[in-house]
Amino acid sequence: MELILLTFLMLAFIGLGLTVFLGIRSFKKRISWIKSFIFIALYGIFCIGILVFLIERRAPKLIKRIPVIRTIEAKQSCDCTWSSLSLEKDDFSAKHKPAAQRISNQMYIRNEALRQKWIKQGRLVPVEEMEGFGISKLDFSTAHLTPLAKKRLYELGKRFRASIQNPDEKMSYFMVSSITRSQLQQTQICERYPTACTKDHSPHSYGVAFDIYRLHSRYKNCNVGMKALENVLQEMQEEGKILLCTESKCIHVTVCG
Ligand SMILES: [Zn+2]
Repeated sequence: MELILLTFLMLAFIGLGLTVFLGIRSFKKRISWIKSFIFIALYGIFCIGILVFLIERRAPKLIKRIPVIRTIEAKQSCDCTWSSLSLEKDDFSAKHKPAAQRISNQMYIRNEALRQKWIKQGRLVPVEEMEGFGISKLDFSTAHLTPLAKKRLYELGKRFRASIQNPDEKMSYFMVSSITRSQLQQTQICERYPTACTKDHSPHSYGVAFDIYRLHSRYKNCNVGMKALENVLQEMQEEGKILLCTESKCIHVTVCG
């Protein structure tokens, strides 16, 4: 922010000097008024370009949206919860937490510095929208997972689409609402939703968990899409690749193998 402000002040100061200089020269008829005006206008455009570049560079990188995911105008969207999907719950303390610690090799993301360190080392990798799923605006998490967890999320999206036969309905996609949270973000979310969060050592803080909260379908109801999602979640759970449990208003998934 300081850099942008300093650049703005510097450019404004130079601009003022240039205007006075050209004004005097025009007044003395050394240069025409029209030329002075063109010089000042060009300088103004140059300044706007520099400031826009600095502001853009400062903006956080957004998740890359892949158009193929949202090629349809979804006509219906349905909540993905424990009551809308028939799934078997894996015990959170006995299964999810130990699996997250084991599969991530104890990579507990205590703070932002550790997250950045593990991103640099490739132990956390960026996740983008891919076939079969979208990512909502992430307020308390970032779109990173371990390479294995990313592979499983992409596999889930692919298998979800592959299990739908109807070409129109095949364009359905589910939405992921939370991905990786540092311990600090976990604390923040607990302050906001005290009854609906894991206070300590959440699988989200190991980069191996994500939440599915909504399904978008082309049809008037989500029956086909919901059934397909339910089947794929059950299959991958039986294959020992993921663990499932309920969270308020979403399905929590921990990758375990
Ligand atoms: Zn969760």
